[in-house]
Amino acid sequence: MKVKVDKKSAEKMLQEYKDFIRIDHETGNLRWGSIPVFLTRARLLYDIYREIEKLVGEAAYSVTYHSLRTYGAEFGKLLRDPTYPSGRGKNRKELFENICADSLAGGWGKITIEEKKGEIFLECETGFPISQCYIEDKEKSKGPVDGFYLGYFEGILSAVDACEYQGEETHCKGKGDGKCCFVFRMYKSHHASK
Ligand SMILES: [Zn+2]
Repeated sequence: MKVKVDKKSAEKMLQEYKDFIRIDHETGNLRWGSIPVFLTRARLLYDIYREIEKLVGEAAYSVTYHSLRTYGAEFGKLLRDPTYPSGRGKNRKELFENICADSLAGGWGKITIEEKKGEIFLECETGFPISQCYIEDKEKSKGPVDGFYLGYFEGILSAVDACEYQGEETHCKGKGDGKCCFVFRMYKSHHASK
Protein backbone atom coordinates (compact mmCIF):
# COMPACT_ATOMS: atom_id res chain seq x y z
CA MET A 1 0.00 0.00 0.00
CA LYS A 2 1.37 3.38 -0.98
CA VAL A 3 -0.25 6.54 0.28
CA LYS A 4 0.30 10.06 -1.00
CA VAL A 5 -1.29 13.39 -0.30
CA ASP A 6 -3.69 15.36 -2.48
CA LYS A 7 -4.18 19.10 -2.36
CA LYS A 8 -7.72 18.88 -0.99
CA SER A 9 -6.86 16.82 2.08
CA ALA A 10 -3.83 19.00 2.87
CA GLU A 11 -6.00 22.12 2.66
CA LYS A 12 -8.64 20.50 4.86
CA MET A 13 -5.95 19.75 7.44
CA LEU A 14 -4.68 23.33 7.24
CA GLN A 15 -8.24 24.57 7.80
CA GLU A 16 -8.47 22.35 10.90
CA TYR A 17 -5.33 23.99 12.21
CA LYS A 18 -6.79 27.42 11.59
CA ASP A 19 -10.01 26.42 13.36
CA PHE A 20 -8.14 24.99 16.34
CA ILE A 21 -5.59 27.76 16.78
CA ARG A 22 -6.62 30.87 18.67
CA ILE A 23 -4.96 33.81 20.37
CA ASP A 24 -5.39 33.83 24.14
CA HIS A 25 -5.23 37.53 25.01
CA GLU A 26 -5.18 36.84 28.76
CA THR A 27 -1.95 34.84 28.70
CA GLY A 28 -0.56 36.27 25.47
CA ASN A 29 -0.27 32.74 24.08
CA LEU A 30 -1.16 31.29 20.76
CA ARG A 31 -3.01 28.09 21.60
CA TRP A 32 -3.89 24.96 19.70
CA GLY A 33 -6.73 23.65 21.82
CA SER A 34 -5.27 24.02 25.31
CA ILE A 35 -1.62 23.69 24.22
CA PRO A 36 0.53 26.82 23.75
CA VAL A 37 2.09 26.76 20.27
CA PHE A 38 4.07 29.01 18.00
CA LEU A 39 4.13 29.09 14.24
CA THR A 40 7.56 29.42 12.83
CA ARG A 41 9.80 29.16 9.82
CA ALA A 42 11.90 26.30 8.49
CA ARG A 43 14.99 28.52 8.78
CA LEU A 44 14.70 28.44 12.56
CA LEU A 45 15.15 24.66 12.73
CA TYR A 46 17.97 24.92 10.20
CA ASP A 47 19.76 27.55 12.30
CA ILE A 48 19.29 25.44 15.43
CA TYR A 49 20.68 22.41 13.58
CA ARG A 50 23.77 24.31 12.40
CA GLU A 51 24.43 25.71 15.89
CA ILE A 52 24.20 22.22 17.45
CA GLU A 53 26.51 20.95 14.71
CA LYS A 54 29.09 23.58 15.66
CA LEU A 55 28.98 22.31 19.24
CA VAL A 56 28.85 18.54 18.79
CA GLY A 57 29.69 17.83 15.14
CA GLU A 58 28.08 14.78 13.56
CA ALA A 59 26.17 14.00 16.77
CA ALA A 60 23.90 16.95 15.84
CA TYR A 61 21.83 14.51 13.80
CA SER A 62 21.21 12.31 16.82
CA VAL A 63 20.37 15.31 19.04
CA THR A 64 17.76 16.60 16.58
CA TYR A 65 16.36 13.11 16.01
CA HIS A 66 15.83 12.55 19.75
CA SER A 67 14.44 16.03 20.33
CA LEU A 68 11.45 15.61 18.01
CA ARG A 69 10.68 11.95 18.65
CA THR A 70 8.63 12.62 21.80
CA TYR A 71 6.71 15.38 20.04
CA GLY A 72 5.90 12.96 17.19
CA ALA A 73 4.69 10.38 19.68
CA GLU A 74 2.30 12.95 21.20
CA PHE A 75 0.88 13.64 17.77
CA GLY A 76 0.64 9.89 17.08
CA LYS A 77 -1.55 9.50 20.17
CA LEU A 78 -3.75 12.35 18.96
CA LEU A 79 -4.19 10.64 15.60
CA ARG A 80 -5.72 7.68 17.43
CA ASP A 81 -8.09 9.91 19.40
CA PRO A 82 -11.58 9.90 17.83
CA THR A 83 -12.43 13.26 19.46
CA TYR A 84 -9.69 14.97 17.44
CA PRO A 85 -10.88 15.82 13.88
CA SER A 86 -8.01 14.04 12.15
CA GLY A 87 -8.35 11.12 14.55
CA ARG A 88 -11.36 10.00 12.58
CA GLY A 89 -9.28 7.92 10.20
CA LYS A 90 -9.81 4.45 11.54
CA ASN A 91 -8.15 2.32 8.92
CA ARG A 92 -4.45 2.34 8.11
CA LYS A 93 -4.83 4.01 4.74
CA GLU A 94 -6.76 6.95 6.24
CA LEU A 95 -4.27 7.19 9.07
CA PHE A 96 -1.33 7.39 6.65
CA GLU A 97 -3.25 9.90 4.52
CA ASN A 98 -3.71 12.07 7.60
CA ILE A 99 0.02 11.91 8.37
CA CYS A 100 0.77 12.92 4.74
CA ALA A 101 -1.79 15.76 4.86
CA ASP A 102 -0.44 16.98 8.19
CA SER A 103 3.11 17.07 6.86
CA LEU A 104 2.12 19.19 3.87
CA ALA A 105 -0.29 21.44 5.82
CA GLY A 106 2.43 22.05 8.41
CA GLY A 107 4.98 23.03 5.75
CA TRP A 108 7.18 19.99 6.38
CA GLY A 109 6.93 18.64 2.87
CA LYS A 110 4.94 16.57 0.42
CA ILE A 111 5.52 13.00 1.46
CA THR A 112 4.50 9.50 0.42
CA ILE A 113 4.23 6.53 2.79
CA GLU A 114 4.53 2.96 1.60
CA GLU A 115 4.38 -0.16 3.72
CA LYS A 116 6.13 -3.26 2.39
CA LYS A 117 6.85 -6.48 4.25
CA GLY A 118 6.93 -4.93 7.69
CA GLU A 119 9.01 -1.93 6.63
CA ILE A 120 7.60 1.58 6.24
CA PHE A 121 9.14 3.80 3.57
CA LEU A 122 8.54 7.52 3.85
CA GLU A 123 9.81 9.72 1.03
CA CYS A 124 9.90 13.44 0.37
CA GLU A 125 10.81 14.40 -3.17
CA THR A 126 11.14 18.09 -2.45
CA GLY A 127 13.32 17.38 0.60
CA PHE A 128 12.58 18.13 4.25
CA PRO A 129 13.09 21.73 5.48
CA ILE A 130 16.71 21.42 6.70
CA SER A 131 17.85 19.95 3.39
CA GLN A 132 15.84 22.61 1.54
CA CYS A 133 17.84 25.30 3.35
CA TYR A 134 21.09 23.58 2.28
CA ILE A 135 19.87 23.65 -1.31
CA GLU A 136 18.84 27.31 -1.05
CA ASP A 137 22.29 28.17 0.27
CA LYS A 138 23.92 26.07 -2.48
CA GLU A 139 25.66 23.99 0.17
CA LYS A 140 26.09 20.24 0.42
CA SER A 141 26.14 18.34 3.71
CA LYS A 142 28.45 15.41 4.44
CA GLY A 143 25.64 13.22 5.74
CA PRO A 144 21.83 13.29 6.05
CA VAL A 145 20.50 16.37 7.86
CA ASP A 146 16.80 15.85 8.52
CA GLY A 147 17.05 14.23 11.93
CA PHE A 148 14.20 16.39 13.28
CA TYR A 149 11.75 14.82 10.85
CA LEU A 150 13.15 11.30 11.15
CA GLY A 151 12.55 11.46 14.90
CA TYR A 152 9.14 13.08 14.46
CA PHE A 153 7.83 10.40 12.09
CA GLU A 154 9.42 7.60 14.10
CA GLY A 155 7.55 8.90 17.16
CA ILE A 156 4.24 9.07 15.28
CA LEU A 157 4.52 5.58 13.82
CA SER A 158 5.67 4.05 17.10
CA ALA A 159 2.72 5.61 18.97
CA VAL A 160 0.23 4.59 16.32
CA ASP A 161 1.39 0.95 16.20
CA ALA A 162 2.24 0.71 19.93
CA CYS A 163 5.72 -0.59 19.20
CA GLU A 164 9.23 0.82 18.80
CA TYR A 165 10.30 1.64 15.26
CA GLN A 166 13.86 2.43 14.39
CA GLY A 167 14.24 4.81 11.48
CA GLU A 168 17.10 5.67 9.18
CA GLU A 169 17.47 8.44 6.61
CA THR A 170 18.91 6.47 3.70
CA HIS A 171 18.90 9.35 1.19
CA CYS A 172 18.92 13.10 1.78
CA LYS A 173 18.65 16.06 -0.58
CA GLY A 174 20.94 18.00 1.74
CA LYS A 175 23.87 15.82 0.64
CA GLY A 176 22.84 15.86 -2.99
CA ASP A 177 20.50 12.84 -3.27
CA GLY A 178 17.39 13.11 -5.46
CA LYS A 179 15.04 12.98 -2.46
CA CYS A 180 14.92 12.41 1.30
CA CYS A 181 14.04 8.79 2.17
CA PHE A 182 13.33 7.30 5.57
CA VAL A 183 12.90 3.62 6.29
CA PHE A 184 11.37 2.43 9.59
CA ARG A 185 11.78 -1.09 10.93
CA MET A 186 10.09 -2.46 14.00
CA TYR A 187 12.54 -3.66 16.62
CA LYS A 188 10.48 -3.97 19.76
CA SER A 189 6.81 -4.46 20.53
CA HIS A 190 5.56 -2.74 23.70
CA HIS A 191 3.61 -5.88 24.54
CA ALA A 192 6.53 -8.27 23.95
CA SER A 193 8.78 -6.28 26.27
CA LYS A 194 6.50 -6.86 29.26
ZN1 LIG B 1 16.95 14.91 4.20
